[in-house]
Amino acid sequence: MVSMFAAKVLFSVLIVLSVAGIGERITTQTSNRQRIVIAADTLFDGKGQVLRNTRIVVEGSKIVAVDPKAGPVDYDLRGLTTMPGWIDAHVHITWIFGKDGKNGGAGSTPDEVAQQHANNARVTLLAGFTTVQSVGSPADLLLRDKINRGEIIGPRILTSAQPLFGQGEQTGTPDQIREYVRAQKEAGADLIKIFAAGGPTRSAPILSQPQLDAACDEAGKLGLRTLVHAYGPAVRMAIAAGCSQIEHGVGATDDDLKLMASKGISLDPQAGLVWENYLLNKQKFVGTPNYPATLEAFASMEKLIPLYHQFFEQVLKIPGLKILFGTDALAGSHGRNAEEFIDRVRDCGVDPMTAMVSANSLNAAALKLDDQIGSIAPGRQADIIALDGDPLKDITAVRRVVFVMKGGVVYKNGPPAAK
Ligand SMILES: [Zn+2]
Repeated sequence: MVSMFAAKVLFSVLIVLSVAGIGERITTQTSNRQRIVIAADTLFDGKGQVLRNTRIVVEGSKIVAVDPKAGPVDYDLRGLTTMPGWIDAHVHITWIFGKDGKNGGAGSTPDEVAQQHANNARVTLLAGFTTVQSVGSPADLLLRDKINRGEIIGPRILTSAQPLFGQGEQTGTPDQIREYVRAQKEAGADLIKIFAAGGPTRSAPILSQPQLDAACDEAGKLGLRTLVHAYGPAVRMAIAAGCSQIEHGVGATDDDLKLMASKGISLDPQAGLVWENYLLNKQKFVGTPNYPATLEAFASMEKLIPLYHQFFEQVLKIPGLKILFGTDALAGSHGRNAEEFIDRVRDCGVDPMTAMVSANSLNAAALKLDDQIGSIAPGRQADIIALDGDPLKDITAVRRVVFVMKGGVVYKNGPPAAK
């Protein structure tokens, strides 16, 4: 049954599409072979190159050509900066504030929760994120499937389903952990998320090496990637276990980072959005599980921000290390994922094009989807966004996403923001 909310979402999509003059497309998207030509004068290819004065030809859900002579033009994006849709390698798309105003709070009906999930998906897509990797809730599965069925709009979602939380011996024997990993695969997980440590101030490992080895090995046998939340010594353990990607990583040594680079393990560090969001919404997080019990205690969180900046500066110096773009977007920051770009460039000295590429081809490769997304080339999904402004000159342009196409369907085609 299509809920009222889904109907409303579809209605709003129709409005977007009719503004663009292609009101029919939403109803024909499954069978469409329509040809769409997009003109761009500044086009980032997702791999670090800038193409000038060209046109992208889209047929159905895919890019079929990049040809400056193609026409007639359906969407004129000249004056904007056009690039592949962004990929966020670390979100929690179904984390919400409850009706009680609290993080993960109670009081909402299942329908209300579903509406909030759908809204998170919608605002994330409209902010330019056409693919996200969601790492921490089985609720993601339903949301992913609803989006794939076209019932609601949102980014392409990859999910870990239920993560494996290390609890020392209580986590289970290596065999039990293997069974747990298989159960996630059976539930529909696209990857496995493992918590191997607490946080930056609680970095002691919460899984033994044999437990971590079992989780990563079993996932590998099933063809699933492993994302390990790790700090301090747990980083080295995750490397030894052969995981695919390490989340956060603060406290890792230069030697750990060099070893990651040599083994091709990606690192997904954060430059600020996650902490800024906790501070912005501290009334909603205070006293909820895993968060400080008093507002005063949030002041200590503020001190962690420079620690993350320093770590970012440390990782930038490691040659060959794959530094992904993952925001840890959760309740309060859905749709504001792009703030992380600004934090990286402004506070950590990341080169703006490097920041853009991290959310395009680098993340696509880490997700093993580089033959489908993350770059502008024939055969790739037509995931195309445009910003009002040039992020290479002014990184805050990432806040001004005025055009969003995912899989050949236009979801946003707004006027440039007032200057
Ligand atoms: Zn997270």
